[in-house]
Amino acid sequence: MDTLKSNTDVAPDGIDAEVLLPGRAGFDQARSVWNAMIDRKPAMIVRCRNADDVAAAVNHARTNDLPISIRAGGHNVAGHAVADEGLMIDLSLMRDVTIDAERRIASVQGGALWRDLDAASQEHGLAAPGGLISDTGVAGLTLSGGIGWLRARHGLSIDNLIAADVITADGKLIHTSADENPDLLWALKGGGGNFGVVVRFEFALHPNGPEIMFAAPIYAIENGPEPIRAWRDFMARHSHLVGSLCEFSTAAGEDFPEESWGKRVYTLACVYNGDAAEGEALLQPLRELGPMVTDFSGRMSYCDVQQLFDTLMPAGEYRCYWKARYLTDLSDDMIDLAMKNALAAPSDNSISSLWSFGGATAQVASDATAFGDRSMGWMYSLDGVWSDAKDDAANLAWSREGWESAEPFGHHGRTYLNFPGHGEDGNALTRTAFGENYQRLVEIKTKYDPLNRFRFNQNIPPEA
Ligand SMILES: Cc1cc2nc3c(=O)[nH]c(=O)nc-3n(C[C@H](O)[C@H](O)[C@H](O)COP(=O)(O)OP(=O)(O)OC[C@H]3O[C@@H](n4cnc5c(N)ncnc54)[C@H](O)[C@@H]3O)c2cc1C
Repeated sequence: MDTLKSNTDVAPDGIDAEVLLPGRAGFDQARSVWNAMIDRKPAMIVRCRNADDVAAAVNHARTNDLPISIRAGGHNVAGHAVADEGLMIDLSLMRDVTIDAERRIASVQGGALWRDLDAASQEHGLAAPGGLISDTGVAGLTLSGGIGWLRARHGLSIDNLIAADVITADGKLIHTSADENPDLLWALKGGGGNFGVVVRFEFALHPNGPEIMFAAPIYAIENGPEPIRAWRDFMARHSHLVGSLCEFSTAAGEDFPEESWGKRVYTLACVYNGDAAEGEALLQPLRELGPMVTDFSGRMSYCDVQQLFDTLMPAGEYRCYWKARYLTDLSDDMIDLAMKNALAAPSDNSISSLWSFGGATAQVASDATAFGDRSMGWMYSLDGVWSDAKDDAANLAWSREGWESAEPFGHHGRTYLNFPGHGEDGNALTRTAFGENYQRLVEIKTKYDPLNRFRFNQNIPPEA
C-alpha cells in the first residue's frame, strides 16, 4: 500500500490538484460510483478544484495518451465516470453555486449536485428544472437532457441551460452561449460528455415554491389498471401544469400499512408546477380513484420533494441496470404490459415507471437542441435494483426484456440516453436517439474532440 507518499511525490509536473494513484489512500473511495456493480481502476484520479486543475489534467492525459473519464455526481448507471487505465477527472470538489436573483441566473460548478443548486436557488424562491433525486450530478443529468418534476412548465434541464464554460480536448477554456460558440452550447443540450469538461453551467431560474403540491396516491396492482388509465387521461389535459410519473414498486417499511408489505403497487406521483393550493385542488381527483394502499400526498417544500426518493436509492449500495424508451402514446395495452412487467420483477427493490411528457418539453423544436425530437408522449423506464451478484442475470434480464417488450409501443425506437443500461448497445442506440441531429453532432465532436479523448459516455465518434 502506497499510502504515505505526499501529493508532490505522485502528481505529475503541471498538476497542482490532489492526485490519487492505485493503492493510495482515498483511491478506492474516489473510484467508486453510485452503481455497486462498477469496479474499474483508473490509472490516475485527479481531484480538481477549479478550471485550471481540469485543464492541467486534460493536458496531462493528452501528452500521455490516456483516455479521460469525467465524474460529477457519479450516478451514471453504466459507470461512464470511471474507466480502467484512464485518467479520471473527479469534479466532486467543484460544487459551488452562485445565484444572481435579479437576473434569475444560477452559475453552477461542474461537480455540483442537484441538492446544491436546489438549496441555493430556493433561498431566492427560484429553481432550475432538475431530476427526482437530489444527489444526482447537475452535469451528467443535464448533458443528456434532464427529466424532472418541473418539466411541465419549464421543460428539460437543457431547455434552461443558457451558457457554459468548457475545457476542451486541447486544454483550452471555451465559453459557449447563444452569442459565443453557439454550436457547442447546442451540442451540450443533450449530446452528453462528448465535447469536453464543463466546469461551469449557467441556468435560467424560475419562481418556484418554496411550498409546492406533491401528490402520491398509491394503488395496488392487484386492483387493476383503472387508476392508471384515469391518470393518463388527466395528464392529457394537464401536461402543461403537472410533472408526473406512475411508478411501480413494492410496498415495504413502516410508511406503508403492514398488511400491504410485499405487495406490488404503483404511485401516481405528481408535482404541480405552480401555486400549492391551486395544485392541491387540481390533483385531488387522482386521490379518489379507488381504494388506496396509502397516500403520501401533501404540500411541502420544493427541496423536500427533491429529496423524497433519496433514501430509496442510496449511493454504492445496490447493483443496477436501467433502461428506458420513449412511447408515442400510453395505450391500455402498454399499461397492461407495464403492470405485467412490474409483477415479474425478481427484486423488490426494482422500480419501473411511466413518465408523462407534453407541456413545455414538447414546445421545443427537434433541431433546437441536440436532444432532438420532442413529440414522444411518454417514457417507459425499468430500473433493475438488487443486492446480490448471484442475482445479476435474472435482474439484468428483467430490465432488458421488459425494455424490449415495449418496443411495439416505442417512439421511432428512441431511448433516453441517461438510462443506457450498461452501454452495451453502443453507437446504434446513440444514433437512433439523436435521429436527424446525429450528423451535426459528429461535426461538432470532430471540431472540439477530433481524437475522441472524451469517449466514456454515450459516445459520438468523430470523423476519422
Ligand atoms: C438514483 C438516480 C436517479 C436518477 N434520476 C433521474 C431523473 O430523475 N431524471 C433524469 O433525467 N435522470 C435521472 N437519473 C439518470 C442520471 O441523469 C444519469 O445517471 C446521469 O448520467 C448522472 O449524472 P452524474 O453527474 O451524477 O453522473 P456521472 O456518473 O458523474 O457522470 C456521467 C457522465 O456525464 C458526463 N459528465 C459528468 N460531468 C461532466 C462535466 N462536468 N462535463 C462534461 N461531461 C460530464 C460524463 O460523460 C460522465 O461519464 C438518475 C440516476 C440515478 C442513479
